[in-house]
Amino acid sequence: MRESTAIRTALAAATDDRIFFDLDGIEGQYAALLRELPGVAVRFAMKACPVDEVLACLARQGAGFDAAGPNEIEQALRTGVPLDRIHYGNTIKSDENIADAYRMGVRDFATDSVEDVAAIARHAPGSRVFCRLATSGEGALWGLSQKFGCSADDAVRVLEVARDAGLVPSGLSVHVGSQQMTAEAWRDALDDLTDLVVVLAGRGILLDRINLGGGLPALGCLDKAGRPLDPPMDKIFAVLREGMERLAAESPSPVEFLMEPGRHLVADHGAIRARVARLTTRSGADEHRHWLYLTCGKFNGLYEMDALQYPLEFPGHAGGDHVPAVVAGPTCDSDDAFDHEAGLVRVPAAASSGDPVWIHSCGAYAVGYTTQGFNGFDPLPYTCIGGSQ
Ligand SMILES: *Cc1c(COP(=O)(O)O)cnc(C)c1O
Repeated sequence: MRESTAIRTALAAATDDRIFFDLDGIEGQYAALLRELPGVAVRFAMKACPVDEVLACLARQGAGFDAAGPNEIEQALRTGVPLDRIHYGNTIKSDENIADAYRMGVRDFATDSVEDVAAIARHAPGSRVFCRLATSGEGALWGLSQKFGCSADDAVRVLEVARDAGLVPSGLSVHVGSQQMTAEAWRDALDDLTDLVVVLAGRGILLDRINLGGGLPALGCLDKAGRPLDPPMDKIFAVLREGMERLAAESPSPVEFLMEPGRHLVADHGAIRARVARLTTRSGADEHRHWLYLTCGKFNGLYEMDALQYPLEFPGHAGGDHVPAVVAGPTCDSDDAFDHEAGLVRVPAAASSGDPVWIHSCGAYAVGYTTQGFNGFDPLPYTCIGGSQ
């Protein structure tokens, strides 16, 4: 487990189902990232953990925010972070969204189409725009490949249209896909960005910011089959450093590098204390199987449980017999389960209703993806522990 003793103490002391965020752990993760990538400006992707205390903790460390719309901008502003550390990073926005963001003082907008640029020019005149380049998403658990970004040729056109419309064409961005497991994805992205920076300079567009997006992986989650994911972090950081150096050397104008990590900063510093609802043995449409149902699931904390596994711990059952089981949440929805085609989880044979279960490395995409009590199962309350003031 990657989390601190503080979070384990909190899990052990909990008397209800609850998600804990370890602010010291998040601070440490942020500091470690900056040691690996010195000088990179962090814009935390808020959707990964829209919890006021977590955002305030990151803001105190010097992070800014990648906000996806006016409501996230409002939440970012509540941390007291300066406006120039908040950008509107969503390429999808209505006229009203743009006008609201502009009114709130935001002057940096992501884009990937001439239609969006025209709307920014009208509703946020004079603002800075950065164009998102499409990536293949290969090597990531979630590719994000189709819905966002444009080709290099389109990016030239988009930024020229922006300039002609009185906006400031300031940068380029990418997102190589969430939980990106390969260093090659960033190498390819940095190659494309470097080529494009030079092409744009030839057209008189000198950029000052390169945004390398999100995608940095969490370390403590397991794959669908329950194997450690084990992302090659050293290699990923080395490729990022080399790529940034090369881009900076080839760029005719000085550039600042940004990143928008989400998952990487919070995933391994959040954990849930839940309980066993029931361990059963049934022969259904498939063969005879054990099923272990938890008191929380996909709709209140474990949204990504169909794509990965979170490590489980059953305090009080460290020894004893274990059996392979499908682990599932408590609702009447069959997607509310780990992917049982891919792999089963070893659970204590003696697990009984009400026993505590600790679910590790589930700090990313937990709170924001919680439903409003789907099937009557309450959203988990949360507690933040630690954190410097
Ligand atoms: C979701 C998102 C991120 C964060 O992605 P992670 O894989 O969690 O790091 C960063 N940038 C943008 C634009 C996003 O939509």
